[in-house]
Amino acid sequence: MAFSMRPTSRRAGVTLAVLAAWACAAPAPSLADGARPAAPAAQPDRVRGLKAPPVDTPLYRRGVVAVANPYGAEAGARVLQQGGNAIDAAVAIAYALNVVEPQSAGMGGGGFMLVHLAKTGETFSIDTRETAPAGATRDMFSGVSNASRKGVAVGVPGMVRGTAQVVAEHGKLPLKRVLAPAIELAEDGFAATQRYADVSCNDRALNSPEARDFFCPGGVAPAPGTLVRNLPLANTLKLIARHGADCFYQYQPDKGCDIAQGILAGQARSTILVNGVEQAGKPGSMTLADLAAYQPARRAPIEGSYRGYTIKAMAPPSSGALTVLQILGMLERFPLGDASQGFGFGSVKTLQTMADAMRLAFADRAIWMADADFVPVPTVGLIHPDYLALRSGLITPGQRIDPNPVADDPRPYEIPGFKRGQRLAVALPVTGPDNGTTHFSVADRWGNVVSYTNTIESSHGIGTFAGYTLPDGSFRNFGFLLNNELTDFNTSPSTNPFTGTDGYNDVQPQKRPRSSMTPTMIFDPEGRPILAYGSPGGATIINSVVNVTINLVDHGMGLQAAIDAGRISVASANPSITLESRFPTETADGLRALGYSVSIGDVGSVQAVGRLPQSGLVYGAADDRREGTVIGLPRPRP
Ligand code: GLU
Repeated sequence: MAFSMRPTSRRAGVTLAVLAAWACAAPAPSLADGARPAAPAAQPDRVRGLKAPPVDTPLYRRGVVAVANPYGAEAGARVLQQGGNAIDAAVAIAYALNVVEPQSAGMGGGGFMLVHLAKTGETFSIDTRETAPAGATRDMFSGVSNASRKGVAVGVPGMVRGTAQVVAEHGKLPLKRVLAPAIELAEDGFAATQRYADVSCNDRALNSPEARDFFCPGGVAPAPGTLVRNLPLANTLKLIARHGADCFYQYQPDKGCDIAQGILAGQARSTILVNGVEQAGKPGSMTLADLAAYQPARRAPIEGSYRGYTIKAMAPPSSGALTVLQILGMLERFPLGDASQGFGFGSVKTLQTMADAMRLAFADRAIWMADADFVPVPTVGLIHPDYLALRSGLITPGQRIDPNPVADDPRPYEIPGFKRGQRLAVALPVTGPDNGTTHFSVADRWGNVVSYTNTIESSHGIGTFAGYTLPDGSFRNFGFLLNNELTDFNTSPSTNPFTGTDGYNDVQPQKRPRSSMTPTMIFDPEGRPILAYGSPGGATIINSVVNVTINLVDHGMGLQAAIDAGRISVASANPSITLESRFPTETADGLRALGYSVSIGDVGSVQAVGRLPQSGLVYGAADDRREGTVIGLPRPRP
């Protein structure tokens, strides 16, 4: 194998042979500058306070990608090799993942792309989050069973318009070259990975006859290594490559652009399949006007600091940055890294302190965080040091907060003279299920860095392809799944207990549902990006980012070790901990003894890249909780 792919997955063996064949068909790496990874031994420019990557970490001069799937990583590496920058590579990865990891993300959904541009020093995000159609109503989920599998859950997809714009504005390659690896994968096929096979017959993949027949033909998942081709998706990608994003968002039959019709028909389906039995659906209200009106947003990240490091992450409509910075801000007064005081990595005291900071932040999140284009999210007050000191005061190491914490009112820390609100006894918001999603990170040779989380919400979204029935009765399939993102809204109408107004995350037309996606970057004291990371995992995304950050900063771990280490997650005010089995059983017992309920399970999948700011050398770290893969450039000579 002629390249330095680093699949950390323990399970990707069969696939990699086929992937190698695909990779070898790619243009040969440029050897112009003696393509060799930099010698790993000398790593002079460690960043103050953070551990330098261990000496055996490969460092690269010409870019690196870290992706949760080996084909996605290969697509990004190829585009970097062809002269694309981190933006081009990230978009290539997003489209390739639509083919090879269709259950997680793709054209039928949206996400957040955090970008650092070396030339201007700017860091900004491209928000391609789905919007509610104009016909959406606050109570549209009321009384609807299985809402997350029905058309009513489908938001107006954002990925295609947002990625086309960012490539045009900041990329170096034309969109059609960026799409080329995905088209090739869809047309020529790829070998099903273990993870692809594992989820192919899940109940959501069987939600419609076309998805069932594609993912789980005859009730059997493809064996790992089976060649999977998606010709309808290849054709859809070619239409976009040829005509641009309008071909997705507008019905232009003269150009052959009828994707929009497929999206509308998919979300208007009147039935779903549950355990093979047809059930009444609840169609969505999306129209051509909703699709045509979709606009991505360029947003400033929310910025904060943790023990001297600047952290920038995704602003509303994501709750990611605010909740991460709340948790870290509340924890800063505790010496989490100091084992001599009973803290240190993995101690019950450290984990319980983290758990209660999470509970406090998630209590606030439920009330205050939502789409700030529609509701007045107190983004300053929520992470104001005085407010966080007040909240942190509720944490006692070694003692569980009891009763469960409730949200407080951050507005006095933001609006001068504002009096603390009286908490009313009203309905609390309810949030829908979370699953699916994918995160990847890219750094290029010019110093641009991208951290991108992309999703169709649950695994396989609503389990329905965009497509419509032709007059002859055949199905015109576009080969990509539709999202169920709108169940990230409060699924029952609620009231904000401080303002008395509608719940901040209640459904409104054109609003974006609250997200937890947290593409993140850490900057050195000179303002240079040194790390980019993020995770899938619904609300637990926030906690994956917190765990990794604490591992890096407090526990002095290198990037790979910080990802490999066990994680803890609490995603509500309840004392319900998810703990990874990477901790010894005594740890769970210790937390249970303090009154927490502890369930054992995986938390997230973090793909990260790092950059040594003085030399500009880059490196990657991948997560074996999925099929994490790092590819750095130049690839080593055979
Ligand atoms: N839809 C979720 C969000 O935006 C992500 C889903 C997941 O990661 O499972 O927060």
